[in-house]
Amino acid sequence: MTPILFNFTDAELSDFITEMGQPKFRAKQIREWLNRGAPDFSVMKNLPEKLRNDLDKIAQTLPLRVVKKLESSDDQTTKFLMELYDGEQIECVLMRTSYGNSVCVSSQAGCAMGCKFCASTLLGLRRNLTTNEIFAQVLIAQWELRRDRTDTQSVRPNGDANNGDVSHIVIMGTGEPLQNTENVIGFIERANRDLGIGWRRITLSTCGIVDGIRELIKWARPINLAISLHAPTDELRSQIMPINNKYKLQSVLDTAFEFSSLHNRQLMIEYILLARRNASGDIELVNCTTEHADLLAKLLNGKNCMVNLIPWNTVDERNFAAPSGNAVHRFQDRLISHGIHTRIRRERGNDIGSACGQLRLKSAKNKA
Ligand code: SAH
Repeated sequence: MTPILFNFTDAELSDFITEMGQPKFRAKQIREWLNRGAPDFSVMKNLPEKLRNDLDKIAQTLPLRVVKKLESSDDQTTKFLMELYDGEQIECVLMRTSYGNSVCVSSQAGCAMGCKFCASTLLGLRRNLTTNEIFAQVLIAQWELRRDRTDTQSVRPNGDANNGDVSHIVIMGTGEPLQNTENVIGFIERANRDLGIGWRRITLSTCGIVDGIRELIKWARPINLAISLHAPTDELRSQIMPINNKYKLQSVLDTAFEFSSLHNRQLMIEYILLARRNASGDIELVNCTTEHADLLAKLLNGKNCMVNLIPWNTVDERNFAAPSGNAVHRFQDRLISHGIHTRIRRERGNDIGSACGQLRLKSAKNKA
């Protein structure tokens, strides 16, 4: 296996470099480049060209390699398809916004949760990502942002309005982070320590693994927690999210509110709006009728939370449809009439398959 220098300790890196007949300080220079997310050795301009070429033949910089980069027509969203050392592929999305630059990272290759509307889980779980593999996704996004600012060939040659580095992280890519809790916590601590990203700017989204939320309660860092709720009753939730057979809706909410109130934070509730075509070809709402809004409002009444409404992103393999804009607004208005804070999640990067797991799935199909 090609050595991945990012995974080496400082001592290992120093041995590796001195064994190549190089002075020790080169290891320090290389470490600085690795910490900045250098995608390959050619960019390490303070190393002699011969060393860069030699390294390129025998080693790799980061634990992931970008195999595809897609730019959305909104000009602010970049999606990366990345390959790991064992050929597994994952996705990561960089979103440039007026409040900062946000990166959506994957925590697993594939997913075992089996949610009926999602593309990520269609090929099952392949494996957990290591802390380094999750962290390197942020470094790659950071490298891209710095390139925006310096590379005149870039689509955004002068950088963005906010002109900064990665400021926010959402753990909402492929995978269930609370099935890989140790590595995900390791990742969050490192992002906070090494990149200075505040706890409050990091959001972990879970389908509702109560035992995992309990671990977060013990860990006691004030990150944002998002719960993928998607239905207001156990009956409906179990139909679309198999995890609900293990952890019931009320216990998920109780534990999640326990976490968020511990840190005086607002709990984020993710709610996908799903419709489906019935036998006569008409669109019917699955989880977003007026009655569903009333039930959801009852569940959340008086709680400190924000409901993010997410019109379903089409996944060809899945038997759902997106509700009309009118239906979305009716659902939102009904929640608001009950005093529930809600917003409609702006769909970003739809044209580049930014919904969970779409790009990875397409790539796996092309390979087959
Ligand atoms: N496993 C975690 C995080 C990954 S999924 C979780 O369940 O929260 C991130 C979010 O995208 C979840 O809310 C998930 O339900 C949602 N999602 C999955 N497929 C989607 C689709 N096709 N359209 C819109 N949202 C989707």
